[in-house]
Amino acid sequence: MTRRKPAAAKAEPTPPPSGGHDHAHCVADALAAAESCCAARGAQLTPIRRRVLELVWSSHAPIGAYEILAALGRETGKVQPPTVYRALDFLKAQGLIHRIESRNAFIGCAQPGTRHAGQFLLCRGCGEAAELVADKALAALDRQAAALGYSVEHRTVEFEGLCPHCQEAARP
Ligand SMILES: [Zn+2]
Ligand SMILES: [Zn+2]
Ligand SMILES: [Zn+2]
Repeated sequence: MTRRKPAAAKAEPTPPPSGGHDHAHCVADALAAAESCCAARGAQLTPIRRRVLELVWSSHAPIGAYEILAALGRETGKVQPPTVYRALDFLKAQGLIHRIESRNAFIGCAQPGTRHAGQFLLCRGCGEAAELVADKALAALDRQAAALGYSVEHRTVEFEGLCPHCQEAARP
């Protein structure tokens, strides 16, 4: 029985921690979680995949493929775009990152051990993303789509606004 899920494996909403937190800790946690997820599934977290994941986790704001490409290029000289795209595809398939459609960018998942679709709150002030968990709401929408005879291939749930910190900063 390799597919049994631990009872605690339930996704929860994850807001970015407040500014001034120890972000190195977030990165270390994310990399450790990625190592164990990949090991459990027999997937290879190669050095380039690991480094791309680390770059996605460079902040709590979504990052684009070109920014990742530029950062890698500065570190190692020339990097081919397909190398980065393949690494991003792998990380996405493993549930280690989510794609933010409206920004054409990627964000690290804080709970990669649980299979879930990502729904996001995006702050237009600081650019950070918070992950929502809305399995029941999505199931209700799926049922309506099915009732209308649609075969859904893709869903995007992204809300845009101001996070609590940016609302605070905007107050006179
Ligand atoms: Zn952090
Ligand atoms: Zn997630
Ligand atoms: Zn904000």
